[in-house]
This record gives sequence, C-alpha cells and structure tokens, in this order.
Amino acid sequence: MTVTRFAPSPTGYMHIGNLRTALYSFLIAKHDGGKFILRIEDTDRERLVEGATDIIKSTLAVTGLHYDEGPDVGGEHGPYVQSERKEIYMEYAKKLVDMGAAYYCFCTKERLEKLHEDDAVGGYDRHCRNLSKEEVEKNLRAGIPFVIRQKMPLEGVTSYKDEVFGEISMNNSELQDQILMKADGYPTYNFCHVIDDHLMGVTHVVRGSEYLTSTPKYVLLYDAFGWERPVYVHLPLLMGKNADGSVSKLSKRHGAVSFQDLVKDGYLPEAITNYIALLGWCPKQSETEFFDLEGLKAAFTIDGVSKSPAVFDFEKLLWFNSEYIHKLTDSDFTERVTPFITSEIPESINREKMLALLKTRISTLSEINSKMAFFLSLPEYEKELFLNKKNKISDFEIVKTVLTEAKSVLSSVEYFDNDTLFASLMPIAEKLAIKTGTLMWCIRIAVSGMAATPGGATEIMEVIGKCESLARIDKALGMLA
Ligand code: GLU
Repeated sequence: MTVTRFAPSPTGYMHIGNLRTALYSFLIAKHDGGKFILRIEDTDRERLVEGATDIIKSTLAVTGLHYDEGPDVGGEHGPYVQSERKEIYMEYAKKLVDMGAAYYCFCTKERLEKLHEDDAVGGYDRHCRNLSKEEVEKNLRAGIPFVIRQKMPLEGVTSYKDEVFGEISMNNSELQDQILMKADGYPTYNFCHVIDDHLMGVTHVVRGSEYLTSTPKYVLLYDAFGWERPVYVHLPLLMGKNADGSVSKLSKRHGAVSFQDLVKDGYLPEAITNYIALLGWCPKQSETEFFDLEGLKAAFTIDGVSKSPAVFDFEKLLWFNSEYIHKLTDSDFTERVTPFITSEIPESINREKMLALLKTRISTLSEINSKMAFFLSLPEYEKELFLNKKNKISDFEIVKTVLTEAKSVLSSVEYFDNDTLFASLMPIAEKLAIKTGTLMWCIRIAVSGMAATPGGATEIMEVIGKCESLARIDKALGMLA
C-alpha cells in the first residue's frame, strides 16, 4: 500500500509551498487508495511557534486533506509529534553507534567555534570519529555532554533515484559527519525523519526540492540499518515574479503567500487548492484545469510532476477564484461572503438581490465592500456623467425629461421588482421616441452615480427600494435644474 506523509515543522503559518507539498503527498497516497499521515516535526525547539500546529491542522481540515494517522486522530505508529518520540531516536542512534555507522562526539562548543573560525575545509574535522571504546565510555561515565554524529563513508559515491529529478549522486567525500542527536537529547531533522518514515511504513517521501541534495545522507542511514529505501518525490521550486520581470523564490514580497492570508483576502480554499495543484503538476489527459479534490485524486500521477520551477501567478489565482465564486449557489455565496461584509446593511436594502447581483462581479470575497458601497449610499458625481455619446445624450434636456417621466411612473409602482419596473418604464421610451438604452442610461446614472455598475437600472432599484430610488432621482433632477 502507498503510504505518504506530510511532515511540517510548526513554525508559524502555512506557506503555499508547504500546502502544495501536503496536497501532492495526499494525492499520491489517495490516487492509489493508500494512507496519508500527518507528523509534526518539532525537534528544532528554538523555532517553535505557539499555535502553529493548530494552523496546520485547520488548514488541512478546510482544504479537505484528511489524514488517516496523526496527532489527535491516532494510529498504530504514534505518537505523531516528534518531541513525544525522543526515546525512540536515542535508541536508534545508539544502535547505529554499535553498528559502526555513527559515533559519540564530545567536542566542546569552544572547540567547534574555533574550528569554524579557522575553517579551511569546511565543517567538522572528525576529531572524535576514532575515539577508542574505552575513551568514549570514560567520557560518558564522567557525564561529559555529547552529540552523536553520522559516520560518513570517506570515499565512493552515494546515489539514489528521484521520481521527478532522476538519478542524484553525491561524492561521499563531500558529506559531513552530520549531527544525528544533539546535546539537548533531541534528534536533528536529518535523523529523526528517517527513523519515523521507516517506523511509520512510509513508502513515498514527498517534499520540496531543497532536500534533494541532502537525501544521499538519508539513504546512507537506510542502508546502514538495512532498511528498504522509500521512493523519493522531490517537488519543483516555487517562484514568484519580481517587478523587473525576473523570478525568485516565492516569498512575502511577492504578495500573500500563506494560506491564511489568502483566505483572509477572500480567496476560496477550493480555488487555492485547485490552483496550487497545477503549480508543478500537469494532468496527463484533460481538457480542463478545474479540479475538485475528488477529481485531483483520480487524475494525479507522479509522472505529471515537472522538475522545472513553477511560477506562482497571482493573476491566474484571481481568475480561478472568480470562476469559483461565480459557480457558488446564491445561498452558499451569501454564507461565505457575509463574514467579509464590514458595513451595516440597512433594512431597506434587498440584501438577497444585492448579493446575487454582486456574486458574478467580484473576484475575491473581500471585494464585496467596495462593490456594494454605492447601494448603501449614493456616491458624489458630476452631472456630466449623464452625457453619453453611444446613447446620443449630448445635453441635459433629454435627461431631465426622462427623469421627470420616470419619477412620475415610479411613484405609482407598488412592487419594486425588476420585471415590474421594466414593464412600467418601457412605455416612456415609446412616448419620448428614444431608445431603451437611452432611457435606462439616464435612470441608471441617477440611481447609482456611476458609469459602470453591477446590474442595470431596474435591478439596482430593486435592491435599493422605492423610497431611495425616488430620492436619488430627485437628487439628480435637483442637480440638473
Ligand atoms: N519538517 C520538514 C519541513 O518542514 C519536512 C521535510 C520532509 O518532508 O522531510 O521542511
């Protein structure tokens, strides 16, 4: 069975790149009917951020990336938080020492700092690599603080095959005797993720390509233990567009790059998920770019993952988002957009109609406020706004006539719904021998104060109601008098 995991470090927020890793990892498992595990990698105690694990869990919940095993879900391989697995790592590190693939290092901080200063070769000089068993035992008995380091082969080459990037090889002479267990008794990421992946039965390691070149060190650990190596799937870099047209690693200066910030800006989780699925993956046979999670599960295969860097395109995400918003049902839209509304909507406004009108005219949920402002209060405008070449309005006389007629007709209309309003106003065009467009233009400008509006004159009046419509027409007549 295919088993994958998402193994984030709880460092504060869910970067889009991390979410993409979670998504791809989830999809690779689910395409095969496999298992997806969440593991929290919190052994770097200095980088911990309070509440970060909750953000991870809630993001996975909102995007539908449900894990089969993980913190608070449980499972046969728990605990799923690395800080709760400390003893396990020490046990395996000691095993590795006994097998001759790791060693105790008692070098003091001062010695290492000095080494760092006169650094010629780079890195640790393997000073403790050949301590005798007696020396090691004496030091341990004396309680001298230690770390455990991986004993890298000094020559030869270590290779592995990555499913996306192909064969990756590294000269062993370039590999540092990296620390596996730190002096504080916590393991390093380099060590514990290998132990966990093995113990949790992970078959496919899916993660960012920043780990591509350190993976030879990890496969050496698998080999030393005699464990089967997992399949590696490293994902392409995520880039952002710079102002000068160049690209660089996607970061905050390119815009909102955390899932939370995008949601706060009014992007729908399902639109974000759909968009990031395509950041580095291309469906094999598909006409469409629109995929819900079920569709992604069915279509996602590793051979569709590309190794070329993917460029995050905010314009494209915006387009996806507007498509997703437009496809919501009116009631779903109302529910989603309501938390974004910051102003009080008066009773006199037909809220339901207003939101239905705006649904197809916004690209993010937060845009609702600016788009609905003119319904709530008439913007200031100049009377010149009425003049319009296309509708052959070159002086204010015709506008005045139209509005005077409209006022008198509207005063006796009882139900301000779109159809009734339209049917009642139409005869004015005939009476004045003008086009419907000219008629509606004058009324629409008067009731909206804007050249471009969501919806036409009668739809706007349906939203703002009789009293406000007449007041706005009066105001226009006053301006034109
Ligand atoms: N904790 C690592 C990170 O957040 C996980 C890398 C991996 O998936 O192995 O980058």
